[in-house]
Amino acid sequence: MTKVFVLLITAITFSFSFSLGKLGEFKFEKQGNSNVWIMHGPPMEPSVENRGFMNNPTFIEGKNGLIVIDPGGNYNVGLDILKELKKVNKKPVLAIFNTHKHGDHWFANLAFAKEYPKVKIYAHPHMIEVVKSGGADKWYGILDRLSKNLKGTKPYRFPDSTVKDGDIINVDNQTFKIYHPKKAHTDTDILIEHVESKTLFLGDNLMKNRFGGFDSSSSITDNIKLLDTILKENRYSLYVPGHGPSGKAKETITPFLSYLKTLEKYAKKAYDEDKEYYAYKKEAIAELKGYQKWDAFDHQMGKHLGKVYQEIEDADI
Ligand SMILES: [Zn+2]
Repeated sequence: MTKVFVLLITAITFSFSFSLGKLGEFKFEKQGNSNVWIMHGPPMEPSVENRGFMNNPTFIEGKNGLIVIDPGGNYNVGLDILKELKKVNKKPVLAIFNTHKHGDHWFANLAFAKEYPKVKIYAHPHMIEVVKSGGADKWYGILDRLSKNLKGTKPYRFPDSTVKDGDIINVDNQTFKIYHPKKAHTDTDILIEHVESKTLFLGDNLMKNRFGGFDSSSSITDNIKLLDTILKENRYSLYVPGHGPSGKAKETITPFLSYLKTLEKYAKKAYDEDKEYYAYKKEAIAELKGYQKWDAFDHQMGKHLGKVYQEIEDADI
């Protein structure tokens, strides 16, 4: 009986794979010769099909342990992501970075913290302030409605350590430089440079193959400026978006940046001619033909155009 039980447990352990049906199987993959491993989630909106997993959880291997960036969107997928992590690396998780306030990036903190209670979780102080004063509940509601997979996610495991613009954090001999754009995707974001591997983690300031919302704390025009600067500097070997595949500067940054610039161009034209924000929507859609396959184009593009028009108007007043 005991033997059968052991065999059964072994079979279950080894047969586990993090599968999301027709979306495929998800694994951590080593990035080139570096010590950076990324599980690229499906670049799409949260859904029952993807169980609320659509970001890019990452770990960096140090000598004694691991440093994780954005562990995932809820407790349940967090458990699966952690299982996948343990398949490729048995070292303990020493620290976690959360790039910004949106729950699809950090709600899996809890799954990791239950396994590693001493883990230090870093975020920008404004991120912590916002999620603790209603931001977490707002995202819980959104993700629960769309993915129906939030059970177990509360009590939230909030970040407990703060990092600000210019900070250099050393964990297990791995160096992380922190950048905080005042306003871009949100006003709670950090961009994280992993110095040793020359990797830049941009959070949702960069996306590929999907679109997300720009809420009232965001700035599309500042997001454009940020990406323009990063692209021009071209300082890194690898650029990791919040959603979608990682890659070199041009292939990863240019698509999203060009999309935003096209919206800005048509919004400005409409504003300068004293017309409504949607006056050149048709022209913009025609120019953005290549983006219509990106997830959520249909219901985000018009909102983005309206948002950037509003920003242009506000800057003028
Ligand atoms: Zn986000």
